[in-house]
Amino acid sequence: MHDATEDAARTDRIQGVLLGAACGDALGVPYEFGSAPLGRGEVPRMIGGGLGPYAPGEWSDDTQMAVVIARVAAVRGLRTVDALDAIVTGWVDWLAAGATDVGTQTRQVLGAVAAEEARRAWSAAASASTGLHGRTGRTAGNGSLMRTAPVALAFLDDPAMLTLAARWVSEATHHDPLAGDACVLWCHAIRRAVLDGAVPDLAAVLGELPADRRDQWADWIADAERRTPSAFAPNGYVVTALQAAWSAIRHPVGDGPPLVASLGAAVHAGDDTDTVAAIAGALLGAVHGASSLPEEWLGLVHGWPGLRADDLRDLARRVAERGAADAAAHRVPDELVEVAEHLVARGLGEGHHFFVKGRPVPGGLSSEYIGIRALDDGSYEVWYSGDRGTPRALVETPDWAVARQGFVDEVESLASWRGDWRAQVGSPRHPRWWRRR
Ligand SMILES: [Mg+2]
Repeated sequence: MHDATEDAARTDRIQGVLLGAACGDALGVPYEFGSAPLGRGEVPRMIGGGLGPYAPGEWSDDTQMAVVIARVAAVRGLRTVDALDAIVTGWVDWLAAGATDVGTQTRQVLGAVAAEEARRAWSAAASASTGLHGRTGRTAGNGSLMRTAPVALAFLDDPAMLTLAARWVSEATHHDPLAGDACVLWCHAIRRAVLDGAVPDLAAVLGELPADRRDQWADWIADAERRTPSAFAPNGYVVTALQAAWSAIRHPVGDGPPLVASLGAAVHAGDDTDTVAAIAGALLGAVHGASSLPEEWLGLVHGWPGLRADDLRDLARRVAERGAADAAAHRVPDELVEVAEHLVARGLGEGHHFFVKGRPVPGGLSSEYIGIRALDDGSYEVWYSGDRGTPRALVETPDWAVARQGFVDEVESLASWRGDWRAQVGSPRHPRWWRRR
């Protein structure tokens, strides 16, 4: 059990996530792409201007898009396809009425969704993003990482679901898997920081990524720890944006408090200053808490849709509370968690190849998948779901070992049939999928 002091400190860190991001955003806005000069050694200030132009302390699209996610998460959680649809619809409305600026990819994807008036907004957005990726090969911008922080607050008590949801929210506009990877990494870092009150070891959350990209990310993280933030400009690419933000946290400038010094370093990275500082600010706020933000900033910070610092505090707290209630209601039995982790460790994707009951997978993510669930009578059901229609039971048994083996075999078979597993765990001479049937 937490005592009251611990609870208050944790709430402070929860509130620090949204407020830290918003303050970083507003601090970086004046200097975005060199809008205002920032001399070497000069301390950045919330003077407004930038690409808006913005009022002093006003946040930009980074925080605006994050607020849309947070408002959905606070009211309905982030566990259903309806919630993902509500986020995308919220962004479409924002683009029509509230956006002060918007990234290129995001504008294209949301524009396509608006034109289509699709019933399923998340699916339509993810499809538009996939199409954009097919035409240009370029959907790894920093625009999904910049807004991802509220997702972490929604799953403080459910790390497995956090991994899934961070990627789904990213994929709405950014098809490239690297954008999803960055959101997964940063959300887990934020979660750890809120729980522990310390700067997390970023390398320690690499296990949340697909096995074949962990080494690459470990190299990128190590590089960010070796060099100062300006080494990672331009930072419109999601990888260099994450590197610049992480480098700023590891290489603060000036002798102010750590959060202020690191946000200064993030702005001094140059280029997309508001986004790098918003990304860094979410994690710094999670580590040090909202109470570590200067009073002057808290008095100035504000933005669409007419919110100020206290509104973000309230929103962050409500997202975390809703997330905690959902996690309690959707607890997945330990044995199902174990087998899901086992499959992910083998390079198979939850939400792509398989489904564990208690972690809903939005329709449209995958045309077919295999699932496993615990039944009320203590037995287990392995099931298959095709393009449409209700899931069909493949195995029903009271014996966990039998259910587990049946589930693993079916997932391997599906992945092999799709041909997207071979590169990771099969070999051309001994393809694993020949083993079955
Ligand atoms: Mg911005």
